[in-house]
Amino acid sequence: MKYIISMGSNLGKSQEIMVNALRDLEKSSRWKTLKKSSFYRTAPWGKTDQPDFLNAVIETEWDGTPESLLRFLQQTENRHGRTREIHWGPRTLDLDLIYGENEERNTKFLTLPHLFFWDRPFVLVPLEEVEPEFIFKEQKIHDRIMEIQGYEEVKKEPASWEGGW
Ligand code: ADP
Ligand code: MG
Repeated sequence: MKYIISMGSNLGKSQEIMVNALRDLEKSSRWKTLKKSSFYRTAPWGKTDQPDFLNAVIETEWDGTPESLLRFLQQTENRHGRTREIHWGPRTLDLDLIYGENEERNTKFLTLPHLFFWDRPFVLVPLEEVEPEFIFKEQKIHDRIMEIQGYEEVKKEPASWEGGW
């Protein structure tokens, strides 16, 4: 099944953490990376008194249910030092399940599509890079980005998944 994941970090060596996290995800035989966006730097959202975020979007072929994927993402967060004291606070690694083809969930554990993804420039700008034809609620992603504004604050970083920090 094809899924879209949003990755973010704003504590520690964010690029290194995200590169290592992806390498970790790719160790699973159930995971195959289909596409990955560039890195983007974004001013914090919601709770604004914290460092900038590094964000990216990954498209994966995952052999399993969205629940099994979210559990796997959470285990990966934990391995990379994720703590959850402050809601919307700084974190070393955040992995959100954004979208799964023909998958909808509304449980305490999982809301799919992700509740806020269609309102978040730091998800939509990298998503447009990997899926320019993406449509949600009958709206093209590019039109949505123009509508919600804030895309100027999401800036592509001259960083690569090959490392080099
Ligand atoms: P946030 O990413 O909103 O800052 P956290 O990552 O700390 O928050 O917490 C995520 C919580 O939301 C978890 O308890 C998880 O079970 C739940 N959740 C519900 N839907 C999703 C989703 N689509 N992706 C990730 N977490 C989700
Ligand atoms: Mg999260």
